[in-house]
Formats: sequence, structure tokens, C-alpha cells
Amino acid sequence: LSIEERLGTNKFIVDEDVPHIVLDKSICSNCKSKPCVKACPAGLYQVQGDSVSFDYAGCLECGTCRVICVSKGLTWVYPRGTFGVEFRYG
Ligand code: SF4
Repeated sequence: LSIEERLGTNKFIVDEDVPHIVLDKSICSNCKSKPCVKACPAGLYQVQGDSVSFDYAGCLECGTCRVICVSKGLTWVYPRGTFGVEFRYG
């Protein structure tokens, strides 16, 4: 299977009320390198003008963006119980 096909096998129960990752757009728009865009294995970050757009619905909960964002432009917690990703192959 390709990476995209493997990602497509995962199941996501999205918490529509409480996002587990929240961006600080004022910090993101001043970040020149935007490492999250290249580092997120699920491709959830997209450059949008000076800032980034983001959709937490397909998050793999790997924590890469939390570590790589040296500008401290996001808050990151695990999803509440019963929400989040359910891996089908590991
Ligand atoms: Fe992407 Fe991983 Fe951050 Fe989720 S935790 S948004 S999959 S880098």
C-alpha cells in the first residue's frame, strides 16, 4: 500500500467541540520557515499567505508539530477520551 492508502485505512473520531491543536495565527504569520508544513506526516498544514491553515481532523497524534514549532505557535494536547485517531495497521 502507498502512504496515502495506509493513511486512508485509519479511522478518526473528530472532537468538533474541543480542538486538540490550536494555532496562534499571530505567531504563525511571523514565522518565516513554517517547518510544520513540511514536517506533518499527514500534510495537515498548508501555507496560506503569510500564515498557515490547519485542519486537526486527520491528525495522527505523532507530536511532530509540537516539537518542531520552535516559535511556540501552537498549543497541543491529546484529544479527549474516545476521540482521535484509531490506527488500523499499527
Ligand atoms: Fe501532523 Fe503529527 Fe502535528 Fe498531528 S501531531 S498535526 S499528524 S505533525
